[in-house]
Amino acid sequence: MPNILLLAGDGIGPEVMAQTKRVLEWASDKASLNFTFQDALAGGASYDAHGTPLTDEVLESALNADAVILGAVGGPDYDNVERHLRPEIALLKLRKELDLFANLRPAITYPSLANASSLKPELVSGLDILIVRELTSGVYFGTPRGMETLPDGTQRCVDTQSYTEAEISRIAHVAFELAKQRNNLVHSAEKANVMETGAFWRKIVTETHAKHFSDITLEHILADNCAMQLVRCPKQFDVLVTDNLFGDLLSDVAAMLTGSLGMLPSASLGAPDVNGKRRAMYEPVHGSAPDIAGKNIANPIATIASSSMMLRYSFNCEQIANKIDKAIETVLDNGLRTADIAGDNDRSISTTDMGDAILQALT
Ligand code: NAD
Repeated sequence: MPNILLLAGDGIGPEVMAQTKRVLEWASDKASLNFTFQDALAGGASYDAHGTPLTDEVLESALNADAVILGAVGGPDYDNVERHLRPEIALLKLRKELDLFANLRPAITYPSLANASSLKPELVSGLDILIVRELTSGVYFGTPRGMETLPDGTQRCVDTQSYTEAEISRIAHVAFELAKQRNNLVHSAEKANVMETGAFWRKIVTETHAKHFSDITLEHILADNCAMQLVRCPKQFDVLVTDNLFGDLLSDVAAMLTGSLGMLPSASLGAPDVNGKRRAMYEPVHGSAPDIAGKNIANPIATIASSSMMLRYSFNCEQIANKIDKAIETVLDNGLRTADIAGDNDRSISTTDMGDAILQALT
């Protein structure tokens, strides 16, 4: 029986997780998946109860789970907590210990929400891009890093961009595999023109493509041009693979094409084991939204869509995942909106009502 670890976290985390669990219970029944759910504390909630954002027991549960779903962590109550005990440490520790090197961030613009984008509706309506970001290496982790004092007494600060062949090859594999399930098109973004690691990235992606995925179309694009193209003509992209730093920036650009933070899911995947099974954590892109926590007005769609990614990538349940995605689209087409996506003339509904509506569209 697959075991799903649910870490609701802080702020709106428990509210959006409650609706997600209802959808997953439906999916479990519908596809006879027999999920067992384990609820545990993470982030500020864990700090309050145990004095640490992630206990060893919960980490162990995450390592043993078939998949982890996380709501959100953090909030102003923890602003003065020592850095190593901050709620966000739970996230970083989970990503590191589970070795979640591939971050998948879809940017989907539902036609009925195209007006919420800052771009012209015709540019984004029906947009469906998948950004695959390398998450555990590159300039955020490379050494040497830090400050030094120069002989003349002034200071110098260093970060190091570093990638091994294996690190590039494994993220490229993930992107090409995903492209097979989509439209057989991968763009790889780097700065091969000015960075050694950029030229190396391009070389390894090209070799991986030629060796294993030559039936897929591969386009190389400079990361700065990619940022420009994302706002000029975003529908030219399907799967976009890039490093940690550029992925951080480009996925936020792509995210904003879709209009609202409350709509954006994500997945972080580890390497496959001998049975082809990957460790994985699924979470909305948004944070704990302390400004609206406890009011039952948060949008649960990002977390529900993250659980749909879980069904697709951890359990190969493409049909059920599609049904959930379709139910979200139907609900939006029917004009139902939480406050964050409501237009001036729309009546907004609660978090629970949105959960009800999605379940109703499913059944
Ligand atoms: P945030 O994403 O929590 O909120 C930004 C804005 O978007 C707020 O106005 C919020 O009300 C709105 N919003 C976010 N999610 C929404 C939803 N589902 N429905 C409706 N509105 C939504 O970002 P922030 O305010 O910068 O951060 C708040 C806390 O969350 C901080 O402690 C931060 O460190 C933490 N955080 C956690 C994660 C995570 O757990 N993955 C990610 C980002 C921020």
